[in-house]
Amino acid sequence: MKKILSLIILTIIITTGCFKKGPSNDFDKIVKKDSITVGVKTDAKPFGFINEETGLNDGFDIDIAKYIARSILGTDKNIKFISVTPHSRIEAITSGKADMVIATMSVTNQRQYFIDFSVPYYVAGQTAAVRKDSGIKTFADLKNKISIVVMGTTAEENLRRVVPTTKIIGFKTYKEAFDALKEGKGDAFITDETILSDFIYHNKDYKTLKQKISIELYGVGIKKSKDKKLKEAIDIVISRMSKDGTLNYLRKKWHLD
Ligand code: GLU
Repeated sequence: MKKILSLIILTIIITTGCFKKGPSNDFDKIVKKDSITVGVKTDAKPFGFINEETGLNDGFDIDIAKYIARSILGTDKNIKFISVTPHSRIEAITSGKADMVIATMSVTNQRQYFIDFSVPYYVAGQTAAVRKDSGIKTFADLKNKISIVVMGTTAEENLRRVVPTTKIIGFKTYKEAFDALKEGKGDAFITDETILSDFIYHNKDYKTLKQKISIELYGVGIKKSKDKKLKEAIDIVISRMSKDGTLNYLRKKWHLD
C-alpha cells in the first residue's frame, strides 16, 4: 500500500511539474533575474565608449541597450555593461557572460553558426583609413601592401575577397590598430566607416577611401536557441524603434547621418 501511495505521489509530482523548474528560455531568465548584462565596446566612438565626464558607458549601442532594457524590464537601471572586443564578443554570448552583445557586430552567416542575431538596427559600410599623402585611392592600390585589421572583425574576409594579395596584420584592439597605422606598420586600416570616422576627425593627416567593400548590418547578438522568445522580443523592440523615430533620433544624436 505504501509503495502504491508513493508511486501515485511521484506520478502527480511528475505530471503536474511540481519539481522546481527554472525559466525555460533566455527571455524569461532575464525577466526573472530582473537585470540584463550587455556586452558593449568601450573603444569605438560613437557606438560604444567610456564617457570621460561621467566615467560611464555611452554611445549609440548603449542607447539601443537601454531602450531594449526599458522595453523588457520597464527600466534601464538594471543593465550591467561588460566590455567586449571583436575578438571576445561571440564567446561572451556562448559562455553566458553576457545576455546579449550590442557592439557594432555585423550579422554574418559564419557567426550564425554560433549565435543568433536580431534583425539589423544599423547599416554601415566598410572602408579603409590611409595617410592623405599615401597615394592610395582605392582598394586595388593595396595590392602587395600591408593592411591592418582588428582580429575577429569581418575586415579580414572582406579584404581577402577584394584584394587577395594584400598582406594582412591583425591587432586585438582598435587602439593597437590605430597606433600601428600611425607608426607606419601598415599602409591602411580597414574597418567600418562608422568607427574610422572618429579616428579621421582627430587625426587630420588621414582620410577614408570613398570606396566601400561591404555592407555591414549591425544586429544584437544572443545565445543560439530553438526557443525564439528573446530574439522575437528584441526584433519587436527594434522595429518599434524604427517606427517611433528612435533610430533616426539616435543617428542624429551621434552624428551618424
Ligand atoms: N562590423 C564589423 C564586424 O562585425 C567590423 C567592425 C567591428 O565590429 O569592430 O566585424
